[in-house]
Amino acid sequence: MRAIENWINGKTVPGTSGRQLPVWDPATGEQQAYVVAATAAETDAAVATALAAYPGWRAQSLSRRAEVMFRFRELVDANRKEIASLVSAEHGKTVADAEGEVARGLENIEFATGAPHLLKGGYSEQASNGVDVYSIRQPLGVVAGITPFNFPAMVPMWMFANALVCGNTFVLKPSEKDPSVSLLLADLLHQAGLPDGVFNVVQGDVEAVEALIAHPDVQALSFVGSTPVAKSIYQRGTAAGKRVQALGGAKNHMVVLPDADIAAAADAAVSAGYGSAGERCMAISVVVAVGGSADPLVAAIQERIGRIAVGPATDPSAEMGPLISREHRDKVAAYLDHDGVEIVVDGRDAPIARGPGFFLGASLVDKVPTDSPLYTDEIFGPVLSVVRVGTYDEALRLVNANEFGNGCAIFTRDGGAARQFQYDAVCGMVGVNVPVPVPVAYYSFGGWKSSLFGDLHMYGPDGIQFYTRGKVVTSRWPDPATSEVDLGFPKVR
Ligand code: NAD
Repeated sequence: MRAIENWINGKTVPGTSGRQLPVWDPATGEQQAYVVAATAAETDAAVATALAAYPGWRAQSLSRRAEVMFRFRELVDANRKEIASLVSAEHGKTVADAEGEVARGLENIEFATGAPHLLKGGYSEQASNGVDVYSIRQPLGVVAGITPFNFPAMVPMWMFANALVCGNTFVLKPSEKDPSVSLLLADLLHQAGLPDGVFNVVQGDVEAVEALIAHPDVQALSFVGSTPVAKSIYQRGTAAGKRVQALGGAKNHMVVLPDADIAAAADAAVSAGYGSAGERCMAISVVVAVGGSADPLVAAIQERIGRIAVGPATDPSAEMGPLISREHRDKVAAYLDHDGVEIVVDGRDAPIARGPGFFLGASLVDKVPTDSPLYTDEIFGPVLSVVRVGTYDEALRLVNANEFGNGCAIFTRDGGAARQFQYDAVCGMVGVNVPVPVPVAYYSFGGWKSSLFGDLHMYGPDGIQFYTRGKVVTSRWPDPATSEVDLGFPKVR
């Protein structure tokens, strides 16, 4: 059985704990490899390696750091297929979906190549007599990333591309469920010329994460995962004096107004609800059908579900793959057992759901009460709930009262209604006739409410801010002849 190792100081290093965590093939239900969970001591050693590499990397010129990112961009581009197939093999998503993940990750590398421009400071000449004031941004030191299973290539790239180009060194703790791609990315960074020790990977679970939270040399933590863990890491990381951005779960609503193009809205709901088997933090999980949109919309979604090809990533015709684990598949399926809901399509009936892989067909549930766990929980699977309301105001109240505020979307032909929704929605990312409004890499990604703990969103301009701290220099080069003692508070006028 293949053991998945750590990446420390430019090479793979076997884990020593003997504590094995299985890596499944979700399409067959068989174990294909294992991770040896890193101990606190191994995690501390990775931080020490990153700390030792920091002064040298920070001292490299901006152009040199950007050049490494340019080379890395070329390597990721050239290896798209290999990266995507590794993602598919351990996560289970289709190869086309995995290629999309790589493409969106690549955008973040491209953004990071612009660091020389992004790190420019300001300069004020003659702020006072003979005094100039200027601002610079400096890296933090060793920073760490803790990432979820659902985007094992893209989410690490959200973090480390900006962190590295800003001059930090990095320790990644990827999801233990699909860890192999982290080593491929580490190898590509190495090939791109990144000095040894600048990027390190520790495999494992909570033990490694606890060690990162506790380590005094880790200056910042970026986390993406479920809300309870995000909240805990934010609270304990900040209490330990670290900078933390912790992105959590979601329950993304798609509001469909009666004037919407119903066919387009149904296409969008099906794509965003069942793509990646619903295991996306930006998946649509609730369709809020306003007024007369409900009946035709439910019928149109039902009709489309019948055409979704569910299968393994090795089948090129498959559009939706399995879930990440047997436990997760069973947990998702159990939501369909709740009383008082109207199941329009039951994914448990799909023949593939009875096989050994972790498959579940797409499910559609109508007239979901807002106190049902189907509505209140983040299910993270291919289950789409429909809530029927009478007015735009009722739809908005649902969006805004929800615990989560990651993404939300409105489907309408009315520009005024869409603009009002953009203004009203208490949610970090809004789509107008776009169901999955993941911002391009030159904006930043982040939700509100229980979808993000911290101040700065991830990647884009916020990412540059997060991984650097500001310094302002007040400088004077006086004529020595003019020097004098003055105990007054410095004035500029
Ligand atoms: P998870 O919270 O179980 O795990 C995320 C990471 O935290 C993993 O590396 C895991 O090993 C580690 N971890 C798990 N439990 C921990 C604990 N108790 N203490 C410390 N570390 C722990 O999440 P997941 O199941 O891998 O991913 C799915 C979740 O991630 C969903 O809730 C989804 O919405 C969320 N997510 C959010 C975003 C976003 O941008 N907001 C993006 C992707 C995924």
